Formats: sequence, C-alpha cells, structure tokens
Amino acid sequence: MNEELEELYQQVILDHSKRPRNFGELTDAVHVHGDNPSCGDEITLHVKFGDDGQVLDLKFTGTGCAISQASASLMTLKLKGKPRTEAEHMLRIFHKLVTSEEETDTKGLGDLILLKGVRKFPQRVKCAMLAWRAFEQALSERDGEVSTEKEEM
Ligand code: ZN
Repeated sequence: MNEELEELYQQVILDHSKRPRNFGELTDAVHVHGDNPSCGDEITLHVKFGDDGQVLDLKFTGTGCAISQASASLMTLKLKGKPRTEAEHMLRIFHKLVTSEEETDTKGLGDLILLKGVRKFPQRVKCAMLAWRAFEQALSERDGEVSTEKEEM
C-alpha cells in the first residue's frame, strides 16, 4: 500500500468502518441495494421519508472495505433529519468533493471531508459513492411511489 493510500485510512474512517453508526434495518422504509463488484462492497440502505421528502431516518447494512462502510456510516449521520433540499445538496457537494480537483465548498460535510483523498483513486471513488448512489436511488424510488399515489387519486 502506498503512502497516499494509507492517508485515506485515517482514524475516523477506521473507527466508522469498525463501528458503523446507524447500522441496521428499518421497516416501513424505502430499501435500496447497491454493490460495487470491483471491490466487493455491498450495502442495503433503508430510508424513511417524511411527506415533504424530509429524511426522517436512515440505516444501512452491508459489508465491504473501510472506505465504503465509513462513507455509509458518516452519510447516515449527516443526512438523518435533513430536509430534502439539504440532503440533495449534501449529495452534490460530496460527489464533487471525491471527484473534482476544483475547490469545493464543503461547508456542512463535517468528517466526510476526510474521504476527499479518494479522488486520486477512481476505484476508491466508487467505494466512497456507493452509499450515496443508494441514497440517490432511494430518492427517485420515493418520488415514483408518490407520483403513483397521485395518479390513483
Ligand atoms: Zn470498496
């Protein structure tokens, strides 16, 4: 492992991968499964949305590398209780953080900024984005359900 890659595995990331927060399942929620075959990461995200799309609660289960599990753990802490617009904003700025060399306004990302080192490693970007892609999918599934309900009315 080279030095740059080692820097990715900082204490906070290791801590979150060993003791993931919000690890578990939610009933009465949107469930999304995502995987990253190139690394062997897997996650199932459970998201409970409010009527206005607010993220009331979210949990995840899964296995995989430290980056994927830590990113999922940190994401659940960050998104829980957030209004939809804010959650979508976090998704955008986190994606930019891990993919772009451009200066990013990372205000509000908290410990998630520790994951920015992955931008040098395309394979690792997939690990870091796995949970966030699942969240994006959960948003669109939630919208699908809502529009179906509206059609029935
Ligand atoms: Zn991985």
